Amino acid sequence: MAQSIEQTKNEIRRAEILDGARVADEIKQEVAVAVENLRRVHGVQPCLAVIRVGDDPASAIYVGNKVRTSGSLGLRSEQYALEVETTSAQLLELIATLNERDDVDGILVQLPLPNGVDEARVLEAVDPAKDVDGFHPVNVGRLALGQPALTPCTPLGIVELLERSDITISGARACVVGRSNIVGRPMAQLLLQRDATVTICHSRTRDLASITREADILITAIGRAGLIRGEHVKPGATVIDVGMNKITDEAEVRELFGADADERLKVLAKRGYTLVGDVHPSEVDAVAGRRTPVPGGVGLLTVAMLMRNTLDAARRRRAILTR
Ligand code: NAP
Repeated sequence: MAQSIEQTKNEIRRAEILDGARVADEIKQEVAVAVENLRRVHGVQPCLAVIRVGDDPASAIYVGNKVRTSGSLGLRSEQYALEVETTSAQLLELIATLNERDDVDGILVQLPLPNGVDEARVLEAVDPAKDVDGFHPVNVGRLALGQPALTPCTPLGIVELLERSDITISGARACVVGRSNIVGRPMAQLLLQRDATVTICHSRTRDLASITREADILITAIGRAGLIRGEHVKPGATVIDVGMNKITDEAEVRELFGADADERLKVLAKRGYTLVGDVHPSEVDAVAGRRTPVPGGVGLLTVAMLMRNTLDAARRRRAILTR
């Protein structure tokens, strides 16, 4: 009898949804205030240069969003939309010009680049002091050494979300699923710096669930809709879902969202797809303590942190004290 009451309790349990929008707005407001101070006290307006090559529609949306957000916070931005035929040499020339310009503080090359452009060479050409994506090997190395560095925006945003939601990182067992250069690896470094005990998992990890289930903080950056299920989660854990996957199948929407599928089905009917994370929401909500939604979670923080990185780059380049 006692067991069935406990079971019922577990079944109706719902993870608290962490509000990425609230934290992103908070950070953007702080950036706007700091940008205004920089202008008033030092006569400096930070400037972000964004380079896009080719006509990938998703990249155009991301770049538009970054440029718009810069403007709304008082930062200046420049946008370079280059033809898909652009060669590595032409791109390197543009980056060299932007590196030289004193009035440009941040340089961002929107990925992916078209086939034929040497991505590693391009990213290494950006002045590390202006590398607001934190992808340059110098910044990657500094992060690994625990030195001040420009750090990739998505993991940086996740740390802000955890800290501002009063989730203790120090001493926690953290598990990061995914080992990409833009999310998984820097995420693990940032958690380690904050004294978590960190495990990194990937596609070759054996018995994933037995490892993820140990984590107080589980961060998934995989790119597989609904892969992380109830069995992967420790009861009460905080689950941060970085994945962004488009699904187009009605049955899949119903399977993932259960009783909450109606809203998603409306989105699917309207757009032909809906965005979901790596986490199976209805199963994980019955086990986790907190979870970030997709959309509305980590994605919003990424742009906010890009703005803060641009502000930080502008201050550091001019030796103006940072936070
Ligand atoms: P990625 O470079 O493709 O890396 C995916 C990682 O997941 C790899 O390390 C891979 O392992 C691992 N993986 C794949 N299948 C797995 C499995 N079955 N079990 C365990 N691990 C598995 O992707 P990414 O760039 O890091 O992005 C990951 C997801 O986050 C994508 O959905 C992307 O759209 C999203 N994202 C969102 C934001 C945001 O702002 N919200 C920003 C960046 C990325 P191997 O290394 O062994 O291949």
